[in-house]
Amino acid sequence: MQQAHVDYIVRRRDERRAVQVTVLGKSPSWQDTAGACSGYLVQEGDFTLLLDCGNGVFSKLRRHCDYVDVDAVLITHMHADHFLDLVPFSYALSYAPRQQPVPVGGHPGTSNPARPQLYVPQGATEVLRAIVGCWGAADLVDNAFSIREYASADELTIGPLRVRFCEVPHFTVTHAVDLASNGSRFTFGADCRPNDELVAFAQGTDVLMIEATLPRPERTGVRGHLTAREAGEHGRLAGAARLVVTHYSDELDSEWTRAEAADSYGGPVEMAIEDAVYTV
Ligand SMILES: [Zn+2]
Ligand SMILES: [Zn+2]
Repeated sequence: MQQAHVDYIVRRRDERRAVQVTVLGKSPSWQDTAGACSGYLVQEGDFTLLLDCGNGVFSKLRRHCDYVDVDAVLITHMHADHFLDLVPFSYALSYAPRQQPVPVGGHPGTSNPARPQLYVPQGATEVLRAIVGCWGAADLVDNAFSIREYASADELTIGPLRVRFCEVPHFTVTHAVDLASNGSRFTFGADCRPNDELVAFAQGTDVLMIEATLPRPERTGVRGHLTAREAGEHGRLAGAARLVVTHYSDELDSEWTRAEAADSYGGPVEMAIEDAVYTV
């Protein structure tokens, strides 16, 4: 067999084993033009995890995979830009004709509707019930997903992924998430103000996806987010092999943001772009 052909087969096999992270939404708490808030599709082989499900994410998800094929959803914290599209996702899982147990609208129906796992922070189940309960649908999300609340100290196995959490300082209880598989690590910083916890948690990671919401530090009140320069600093202190900046608005100059982060990181920085795929 020719060497080039062997290399191709090996590469194909490695790509199948590798974790692929697709950016569905990278906007901050308001969407970019035609954009979506926080959402990342994490796939390895046939396994699919949706990391965060902010507003706009469900539509973006459907461009990349069938929502009934999502095995699990993991929410980092209960801010609208990280969970709000659980509502349309729940409606699809509950009312799409092919999810019905009896034939509907020309669709044969199914005896086995998709019911993905949904991992949320402690107390989030009640928050979700209260939100959808406003219009009398309190059990919408409970019925659509199989909900499990996690604690910061939990170490979970979700499909092929080993999942760890680190509580990071933000405006509400928030978790950075580390996903490991086949010796590779992808660390997502969620939303946070400058902190040592994320630096320690992400130490030596292969890819650190980190927010850079702010052009400058908040001028008043308790801080909750990072500037691009602070994001780069966290990446450098964590010794992250690759740094991807996310949660930034299209109303900021992305090249300025990248340059700020790269300067403090001490190397090239990638900007999260919707639909881009990062191989870990
Ligand atoms: Zn937040
Ligand atoms: Zn956010």
